[in-house]
Amino acid sequence: MACDNTVNKVQTETARIKAECSQCGLCSDGCAFLAENTSPAEMAARGLTKEEAYSCSLCAKCQALCPLGLNPMGMFQERRVETMQNQELEAEEFNYFMPDCEDNVMNYYRQYYGIDYSNLESDKSSTTYFFPGCTLMTYSPALTKEIYNRLRHKQGCGGILTDCCGLPLYQMGLRARAGKFTNYLVEKITAKGIKSLIAACPNCYYKLKATFQPLGVKIFTVYETLDFPWSSRTDLPLCTIHDSCPDRMEGIFVRQTRKVLQHMGYRIVEMSNILQDSPCCGSGGQISHFRPDLADKLVRDRLTEAENTGAQILASYCMSCVLNFARLESGLKVRHVMNLLLGIDEDYTEVKKRAAEIFAS
Ligand code: SF4
Ligand code: SF4
Repeated sequence: MACDNTVNKVQTETARIKAECSQCGLCSDGCAFLAENTSPAEMAARGLTKEEAYSCSLCAKCQALCPLGLNPMGMFQERRVETMQNQELEAEEFNYFMPDCEDNVMNYYRQYYGIDYSNLESDKSSTTYFFPGCTLMTYSPALTKEIYNRLRHKQGCGGILTDCCGLPLYQMGLRARAGKFTNYLVEKITAKGIKSLIAACPNCYYKLKATFQPLGVKIFTVYETLDFPWSSRTDLPLCTIHDSCPDRMEGIFVRQTRKVLQHMGYRIVEMSNILQDSPCCGSGGQISHFRPDLADKLVRDRLTEAENTGAQILASYCMSCVLNFARLESGLKVRHVMNLLLGIDEDYTEVKKRAAEIFAS
């Protein structure tokens, strides 16, 4: 199963780092959390605290930077699994953001605002489905419905799957629950006879690819599937793009989103840290729960970097990144790439606050 593979890989990573890390410091130079510590080798040798495990945003930048091909993120993931197995943390405390729990914040948000996709037209004989991902479908029903309508009428997409990809369970270290959730998705997708999934979110795209590609299901992005008109407009605002962590190694969204935005006439100005060097937006690995100070620092640093480009718009193709950047004040309009491509403008400034208020009440 996918989760067992993940854990086995993680378990070997700690031993590798202990044995092979040269303490060159390259990963620490690129990571605010590692910079608080000595080196991955020293941490592996002395053993990690659970606080350290949950201070890593699981962004994989260290893996991209390491000249020896080591993956410090892996040892933090391993410690997360160990923490949960040893019951050093109460797993139920985190059910509010777990997809296998009905009472999670996104379900509440959708119920509270009457966001519902059950009445959308569908074609049960189709083998192609849209997988928007829970963050997009919760916080932007307008984008979700417009993407689905276009996929449905122009690409023959037969339905929409309103499930989570299960990533939060894996990231939290809840191995058994994550495996169970993946099995549920496999059964559901197999029972529907689905042969192709079109993903909007990079986290979902890579998670679905890892699970379903070996089962013969093809995974596509919305950017390669939808048609976007060419435009010769020269009056569109200058835009900079934040690259999201799950795309770091393959760069599929990196290339596709820049291509379609430029095709539509957007001028793109790049930040200093893009592609593999892009930092986490501060929402990865649930660190906004465990290390809000670090999460805020990541947001502020990235907003400053974006402002320094002179761009008016900071765009991202991951809705979690968009929401995280929009929650702090800046001189930028923070938008999802799809807001720009589909001409649907939305202000995400208050969304996170609203979600927190609903859940608190
Ligand atoms: S995954 Fe990201 S946050 Fe975690 S140690 Fe690596 S670079 Fe730092
Ligand atoms: S970049 Fe690699 S070798 Fe260098 S300190 Fe980090 S883990 Fe060790």
